[in-house]
Amino acid sequence: MCGIVAYTGYREAYPVLLKGLKRLEYRGYDSAGIALLNGDLNVYKKKGKVSDLESHLKETQLHSTIGVGHTRWATHGQPNDVNAHPHYSFNKRLAIIHNGIIENYNVLKQDLTNKGYQFLSETDSEVLVHFIEDVQANSNCSLEEAIRLALHQVVGAYAIVVISKDHPDTLFAARKGSPLVIGVGKGEHFLASDATPIIEYTSDVIYLDDLEIAVITKDKVSIKSLDDVLTTPYVHTLEMELEAIEKNGFDHFMLKEIFEQPKSVKDSMRGRVNAAKGHLLLGGLRDYLNKLVHAQRVVILGCGTSWHAGLVAEYLFEEFARIPVEVEYASEFRYRNPIINEGDVVIAISQSGETADTLAAIELAKSKGAIIFGVCNVVGSSIPRATHAGAYTHAGPEIGVASTKAFTAQVTVLSMMAIIVARAKGTITESQYQELLVEFENIPAKIQRILDKHAQIEYIADIFKDARNFLFLGRGYNFPVALEGALKLKEISYIHAEGYPAAEMKHGPIALIDEEMPVVFIATRDSSYEKIISNIQEVRARKGRVIVVATEGDALVEKMAEFVIEIPHTHEALVPLLSVIPLQILSYHIAVMRGCNVDQPRNLAKSVTVE
Ligand code: GLU
Repeated sequence: MCGIVAYTGYREAYPVLLKGLKRLEYRGYDSAGIALLNGDLNVYKKKGKVSDLESHLKETQLHSTIGVGHTRWATHGQPNDVNAHPHYSFNKRLAIIHNGIIENYNVLKQDLTNKGYQFLSETDSEVLVHFIEDVQANSNCSLEEAIRLALHQVVGAYAIVVISKDHPDTLFAARKGSPLVIGVGKGEHFLASDATPIIEYTSDVIYLDDLEIAVITKDKVSIKSLDDVLTTPYVHTLEMELEAIEKNGFDHFMLKEIFEQPKSVKDSMRGRVNAAKGHLLLGGLRDYLNKLVHAQRVVILGCGTSWHAGLVAEYLFEEFARIPVEVEYASEFRYRNPIINEGDVVIAISQSGETADTLAAIELAKSKGAIIFGVCNVVGSSIPRATHAGAYTHAGPEIGVASTKAFTAQVTVLSMMAIIVARAKGTITESQYQELLVEFENIPAKIQRILDKHAQIEYIADIFKDARNFLFLGRGYNFPVALEGALKLKEISYIHAEGYPAAEMKHGPIALIDEEMPVVFIATRDSSYEKIISNIQEVRARKGRVIVVATEGDALVEKMAEFVIEIPHTHEALVPLLSVIPLQILSYHIAVMRGCNVDQPRNLAKSVTVE
């Protein structure tokens, strides 16, 4: 993961880099560092958060108009000062920041060690900068050429920026598999892992492509392929607003993002759903819609929360479009020899659009001839560019590491996809179709009604904040929600939690139940209601503490449960859009009460751009 930021222009670079690193901190927060060039090439770095680096540098004079910054999510070597980026080359004339993994770093390191190079850190990244120095020394070529030659020999993934004492106004950047965006200003240029550090200065950006090298001065960007062919960059205009990436009075990004869901779900549907006119449209599917309609099978790829959204989509596509679906962890799919037959269609889901495993799984599926659809949030990211067609979720930037609004936006888009395909196939009736469209439009207001019960959920959180384990149980469409509820809780509160299909409880997890075990049931009034009521009884009989997310006005559940969180009634297929909300709020409050950093949970990072 890691966040990269760089600047060359007329401003003081340090404040630009520092602010940029704070915006990118969701990508990694093991350590942070900067390199500034002002005659000398100085590197400053510190274990911990960007604010630790900031305090460390409080008394330091840091004048320069060119520099690079990095916030790390360690892959090779512990999070400490030495392993923090930037890394100097051996002669200290170059410094590098790197996001990704150099897989053959050991071989390169051995060769360099044999030649007398010494390494300070345990990172793969330091090896790369020494290697570039070595290639340049041996080939007697320009730095750009040396980077190109070196990268030809690198196996793995990278976004790098190199800064050099010999090029006082130039940044050298390259990418393969990890994102890099160039911000184009007047008399200044920016580089970053995503557009958030750039947007307050310019909305003109260039997305660097895989296997491209950019040479950037304050006035000029020149981009070449790794094969030394000049390319003509396309300058995109960003539509993101600065407000969208700030906390706006909320204590945490996660809370802000939970509360944004009435709006983000509406944004996912904007211009796409119109019940009055009977319209449901996803423009990005149009050219390949037929492939989906005639698909023999849909394979859905995702990781983490996106995988859970994929499970919801499995129910939707099978129920409405009558297409068999398999939902795969991208990380498993890519290392098997998966069978892709003619007529198979792949849907890849990723909030960031940069998830390394999902990208690799897409490439594998593509090489086997599959047509791929992407469902991503970050516009212009790698997955939308690697897929044949797809739909953006338009949830706006998600900064909290634990995904909330991205999940509901993914489920919204996937639901729309399934209904569009079902309609084109004629596998749903007009009245079902119409009913679903009306319900889509009702969802944002219903989410708001759940958010209004926030204080009640906070009260429940207080009662269970010291639990050591949690069980989340659901059936049908609520089974993936149970998984998502458990994931939310464990990732931000560090409480062990498991999600299960409620009926599976009898095959093992029931053994865990005693008077200390909180069990969260998602038991809305739908086709499996009676069955899950029996499951609640089974837990009660074993003295488990029962919390139920139930449909408003359910008197039976009210009698059975210790706590009930009511959600409005909706179409069964759209229930996950509502039932997940109380679970997000519950996890949030438990984590805050336990003193956890919910926006930056330990060991995690937002977009998993390493495998
Ligand atoms: N491999 C590099 C390191 O461990 C960068 C890690 C990353 O991009 O997540 O420092």
